[in-house]
Parts: sequence; structure tokens; C-alpha cells
Amino acid sequence: MYATTTPARVLVVGPTATPDDVDNLRGYALDVADQIGVSATYALHNEYRVTDFEAVYVLCASTELHDTVGLVLMAEALAAGMPVHEPQSPREAAQCVCGQSQTVRTVIGEDGSVWCAECRDEVAGCAHCAELPDMEEMALVDRDSTWIPVHAGCLATAVATIPGAEFVTA
Ligand SMILES: [Zn+2]
Ligand SMILES: [Zn+2]
Repeated sequence: MYATTTPARVLVVGPTATPDDVDNLRGYALDVADQIGVSATYALHNEYRVTDFEAVYVLCASTELHDTVGLVLMAEALAAGMPVHEPQSPREAAQCVCGQSQTVRTVIGEDGSVWCAECRDEVAGCAHCAELPDMEEMALVDRDSTWIPVHAGCLATAVATIPGAEFVTA
């Protein structure tokens, strides 16, 4: 019914010149991971192979992006024919029936209702056990500049295997 395909791993680019920029980018990547239901890597350098990702999300309008890292990665993504998503207008933000807010990319069904990635069954599985969220809440783990979805219940094991990682409950 909803013919959108959700990538499992995406790259998020934006300004990284100052610590505030990095914080912003990290926060935006968290929103992307949470709302799109994917692993989201925030690019702090351009040593990525963009084709390892299925889409690129840009923190600002691409015309406002002056940061070398972001520009290089965005250019590579466009050259590779990958989808590059600029942020939607704040006016398009909406809330799914389940309460999930959709500020990154609102998907509206044929009947005009808003559906979040989880309600569309398009979220990636748990990075630890590969199962889908189902009844259990997913948390997001920051590992190597990537927000990775993990079951809350898998966190205890994940904590032991990912020293120093930070956890955010989605
Ligand atoms: Zn929902
Ligand atoms: Zn799990």
C-alpha cells in the first residue's frame, strides 16, 4: 500500500566546523535514525564510500551547505545516482497515529493519514539480534558516529560488547 522503500543504512551530512555544528548534526542523525528506522551515520570526515549507504540526508538545504566534508559526500552521492534528501519544511511536520513525530520526512498514505516508518513496517531490525522491534521498544546506540537501533532488552549485552557507547532510548 505504501510503496516507499526504506534504506537500512543512511549517511547524514551537514556543517561540522564547530562543536555546536557537530552536536546539531549528531542530533539530526538521531532524528533520522529514530524516524526513518535506520542506522544513521553522521559524517565527520569524507572517508566514507557513499555507495555503502542507501541514501544521504542533508541537515540543511543543499545550497546552504558550505562545509567541505558534506559537499564532497553529497557530490559523490549525486554522482552515484543515490537519493539525497534535504530537510522537509517545518510545515510538513506531522504526527503518526502512534504518536511518533515526523519532522525529517513525513509519509502520507493514500487516505491522507500519516504513517511513521515503524507503522509501515519499514524499520531496520535490531543490530544485536536482527529481530524487528515488535512489542519491544528500540533504543539507539551511538557507535563510531553511527546511531544504531537496538532493542532495549538487547542493550545489556550490547553495553558489554560496545565499550564507551552512548545510549538514547528512542
Ligand atoms: Zn506510527
Ligand atoms: Zn534485539
